Amino acid sequence: MTDFLEQLRAGIGVEGSAQVAPDLVNIPMIRHWCEAMDEANPNFLDEEFAAAGPHGGIVSPPAMLNAWGMPGVRIKREEMGHPPPPPIESETERETYGSVLGLLDNAGYLGVVATNSEHIYHRYIRLGERVKGTQKLVDVSEEKQTALGIGHFVTTETEYQTTDGDPVGSMFFRILKFKPHTGRDASKEGAENAADSPAAPPAMRPKPSMNQDSQFFWQGAAAKELRIQKCNSCGRLQHPPGARCPACGSMDLGWKVATGRGTLYSHCQVHYPPLPAFGKPPIVGLVELEEGVRVLTNITDCAYSQISIGMDMQAWFYNDPQGFSLPLFRPARQPRRTETLLAGDISEGDPMPICPIPLTVTGIVATAIATRDYQDVHHDRDLAHQKGSKDIFMNILSSSGLASRYVSDWAGPDAIFKNLKIRLGAPNHPYDCMTMSGKVTEVKSSAASGADSGADSGGGQADGADVTVEFAGINSLGPHITGSATLYFPANPSR
Ligand code: ZN
Repeated sequence: MTDFLEQLRAGIGVEGSAQVAPDLVNIPMIRHWCEAMDEANPNFLDEEFAAAGPHGGIVSPPAMLNAWGMPGVRIKREEMGHPPPPPIESETERETYGSVLGLLDNAGYLGVVATNSEHIYHRYIRLGERVKGTQKLVDVSEEKQTALGIGHFVTTETEYQTTDGDPVGSMFFRILKFKPHTGRDASKEGAENAADSPAAPPAMRPKPSMNQDSQFFWQGAAAKELRIQKCNSCGRLQHPPGARCPACGSMDLGWKVATGRGTLYSHCQVHYPPLPAFGKPPIVGLVELEEGVRVLTNITDCAYSQISIGMDMQAWFYNDPQGFSLPLFRPARQPRRTETLLAGDISEGDPMPICPIPLTVTGIVATAIATRDYQDVHHDRDLAHQKGSKDIFMNILSSSGLASRYVSDWAGPDAIFKNLKIRLGAPNHPYDCMTMSGKVTEVKSSAASGADSGADSGGGQADGADVTVEFAGINSLGPHITGSATLYFPANPSR
């Protein structure tokens, strides 16, 4: 072992001092989180609803476990000619972890990405409680060549309690500290970026043919309207547009604005011939609109493995740099389930609905800040570039929060998370879309009282079930997130 590695590993197994969250679990921070994650479970914000539920009151979203103790923003005011901010009293040092990160920074491993986060929840944390975490360094890997660069994986474990000493959960967490621009693919970076960016394709998308008969359709697309030709004589809809009505022969044709909602009637993926303008082999789908006509289109923002016949689709409008707009379709997001699934409703192999999460600069920055993560790579594009990234990217607490929102939207508000384990792959950059899919992998009978110390198990109540789901969130670069969660579902309605 090198001296340097020995130095890095010196603190393994040593428990740091407890880090106390600066704030009690409170509504404003929960609201900020829920808004950023698009999380609408009323157990987190609706007093009346929460009081009648399994927790008996408002609780913190479980995925916020490590957000409460995040250090928050540290603007270096001294560099701007102002005095430095006073130290925050409740923040104690993270000796071992902090010193390892410092050693790595000084040795040039300036890049940082989180790769694994595994939460175990003993119970949900209630409004007004304060969380403290005790962190332990558990491993520092040897130097490894990764796709991002040469670096070390640093693994920690944190036990969380309330300040009253009640254990609420734990976290296994791993990051990679790497030397920027030493990645396996460093030499190809530019070319890859071009291919991955829909705004700057290496080859132009073929321009659709437009004529007098179809002019209304293209003008509609430019106005973000999906217009379907309609016969003014007999009312029949037809697509693609033609010169006359195939039913009655009339040439008096108008159009109707479609809702853009439909279902997937058929699909295929085109591998040959390769079409450089599309990047990856494009998915071609036949979408049956609510209005009854079928539209031949591209299916975007998902992997081919995630789609299936009959699934709900939603139109969106692609703006091509050549100056035309084109309606394309992506899987439609399903509405949040408002009545919690019951144990008896769930079987192994059940699919979870597919859910696209469009990635924007605002979304990535808003979720980073809602999780109190001010690492520059999550909001500052210049610094993200310097540290070897093509753009800002989503932080792991946000990936965890979005995954839990996805699972919870399927499960219903009163299913209780027992754990949430995620592993990150390709980064979530802006201007992309991460599409979630998943399925039930295990259903096990479980005593109601085992779910949550706040749950009222009642005398003689039927057992519920511990249900494990596996999920993936895939963007244009590949899987961003893969993971699993185990949730307790009651046997009978809990409210
Ligand atoms: Zn007609």
